[in-house]
Parts: sequence; C-alpha cells; structure tokens
Amino acid sequence: EKEQTLLDEDAIRRALTRISHEMIEKNKGMEQCILLGIRTRGYPLAKRLADNLKHIEDIDLPVGSVDITLYRDDLEKKQADPEIHELDLPVSIEGRKIILVDDVLYTGRTVRAAMDALMDKGRPSQIQLAVLIDRGHRELPIRPDYIGKNVPTSRSEVIRVLFANSDNVDKVSIIQT
Ligand code: 5GP
Ligand code: MG
Repeated sequence: EKEQTLLDEDAIRRALTRISHEMIEKNKGMEQCILLGIRTRGYPLAKRLADNLKHIEDIDLPVGSVDITLYRDDLEKKQADPEIHELDLPVSIEGRKIILVDDVLYTGRTVRAAMDALMDKGRPSQIQLAVLIDRGHRELPIRPDYIGKNVPTSRSEVIRVLFANSDNVDKVSIIQT
C-alpha cells in the first residue's frame, strides 16, 4: 500500500474557507440555504462550513444530515444502489436552497440517492453540491458547484479522508491499493 498526502491541515482549512466565500458569492448571501451533510464525513464538513459562514457572514445556517450506505470502500457491493437510512432535516426544505456536502464524489450515485430522498420530503427551490474531493468516474450527469480539489484517480486508488473531530488529524491522502 502506497499513501501520498494530497491536502494537509492548512490546505483543508484554506479550501473550506474558499468554498465558504464561493457559497456566499453564488447565493448573494445565504439566507435561504440549508447545509445537508452526507454521513459519515460529509456531516463534519457541513458543520465546518456552517462555522465558517457564521464567522464570515454572521449567519446561522441549519445543518442536517443524511445517512446513505453502499460502497464504503467495499468493492463487492459495486452493483448495489445506495440506500437512504436516515434523513435528519432541522427545518422544512420547502422553497429553500439545499447545499449537499460530501467528502468524496465518485460515481454520483450517493448524491442521486440523497436528492431522491430530499425530493420525497418537499420541493426545494434549488439543490447545490459541495465536495472536498472530486475523484472523477461519474456514472450520472452530476457536477459539483464547489470543489476543494479535483483529483483524477484510477479505480484502484482510494482517497483517505481524516478529520480532527473523529480521527485526531485533518488529512486527505491517496492510496494505491
Ligand atoms: P459515489 O456514490 O459518488 O460513487 O461515491 C461517493 C460516496 O462514497 C461518498 O459518500 C464518499 O464518502 C464515498 N467514496 C467514494 N469513493 C471514495 C474514496 O475514494 N474515498 C472515500 N473516503 N470515500 C469515497
Ligand atoms: Mg461517504
């Protein structure tokens, strides 16, 4: 196994600061927005973005979470479709802008499942997507609005994402398996 660091703590912080500013600019403020983190690691990212937005714009955004499982780096289940286990929405999504947040975007099937679940709950005015890493290999017409870093990968490579709140360190690396 060969591991190479892509983003260290400072680089992650800067990427999230940049994305926060891009969100404010794109949405001309953030009043109608809700952040929705895809568990596991999209949720701490969404909370960090909410902290940044509070700091920069003095706005308190609702942060929800959605739990979707499939691959989890286990390649045997490649044919299965992602399933929604739990959708935790702090407020009604009717007419609001939802910003989905995830750590890694790959085929796009998880994001699709999240969008399906959301649209069962109401009619958001818009859904946007923020990811820390876009590793390519999309199987659906899904494109992020905000990207921390584009990382062209082969299918045999895996991105490892570690966050201080759960892993004691902020780090993104690429692993050749
Ligand atoms: P997709 O549904 O787009 O194929 O995969 C995206 C979901 O699977 C995300 O929730 C992400 O956490 C996880 N994922 C896919 N590939 C990777 C990867 O290389 N590293 C990590 N950490 N997660 C991945
Ligand atoms: Mg995930």
